[in-house]
Amino acid sequence: MTRRLLVLYTGGTIGMDHTPDGLAPVPGLLPRLLERFQSAELTFDVLEYPELIDSSAITPAHWNRIIGDIAGRYDAYDGFVVIHGTDTMAYTASALAFALQGLGKPVVVTGSQLPLVHPRSDGWSNLADALEAACQPDLCEVAIAFNRLLLRGCRARKLDAASFAGFDSPNAPPLARFGIKADWQRQHWLVLPGPFRPVTLREDVRVAAFFLTPGAGTALIGQTLAEQRLDGAVLMSYGNGNAPAEAGLLAGVADATASGMLVVNISQVVHGAVEVGAYAASQPLARAGALAGADLTPEAAVAKLTVLCSQELSPQERREAMQRALVGEMTLLPD
Ligand code: ASP
Repeated sequence: MTRRLLVLYTGGTIGMDHTPDGLAPVPGLLPRLLERFQSAELTFDVLEYPELIDSSAITPAHWNRIIGDIAGRYDAYDGFVVIHGTDTMAYTASALAFALQGLGKPVVVTGSQLPLVHPRSDGWSNLADALEAACQPDLCEVAIAFNRLLLRGCRARKLDAASFAGFDSPNAPPLARFGIKADWQRQHWLVLPGPFRPVTLREDVRVAAFFLTPGAGTALIGQTLAEQRLDGAVLMSYGNGNAPAEAGLLAGVADATASGMLVVNISQVVHGAVEVGAYAASQPLARAGALAGADLTPEAAVAKLTVLCSQELSPQERREAMQRALVGEMTLLPD
């Protein structure tokens, strides 16, 4: 049976070519190069965005465009491939994972470290793997295909800007490994009930992440939180969620949470989780009102806050949803 996919092309290195100013996206190039993947089993349409961006420029408005394009054509296609720059690919994959609620089809995000026009480009294999994954009828989640791995989108991180192994999901197993055969790890695939109810993001949503460092920065973060200009904040603390009991920081967290803002505590360490109570130094942040984000990635934490703060929810419903695993984004420890 022929599978029918929609490829959304947003920009990134993969479709760039040499221009007098250096590498830049060239409209029309990628759709032309993709033609070789059409076959009796696979047919696809390409939606090239009018403004092809370097993904460092991505905003919630761009995410809304992708969400709207998938939602508007949801019934017409068996799956979707999003072609995207690598820099913020994990943010976009996470935002799509939380926003495309009740997703019942594959959405596979991919790109490359070297453009397709480069003789050693990794783009060809990434595209082939993404297209194959997007043809799997029982893959009902947002994934990233990169360097012969299929990763859960809301677990993936860009961890290498120098090699082809650009992405990994440090706290979750891959959904597939591509060798001579595709080794689908179906036991790890998400099974969630529909119906499909995509969320449109608030484009003015104010979510920011703060990286704790020893010294004066800690109190400054507290001051910023106390100003209550944000809808949600991610605090990247030490180790298993530890932070200094610095009065300014704790007062800021307490003021912010009392005003209904979501403050989520995640670890700056790539592998492992926030575990309140493992160390006494994890308690003050929790007592001040910060929610433990378990092993959420920073990308997933920002995206989850962005989506939850875009929905019509009460502060209490938001806090509860933040602490639940909605789309396999975190591993909750038993109480
Ligand atoms: N700066 C590029 C981007 O994220 C990098 C890439 O695509 O690999 O759009």
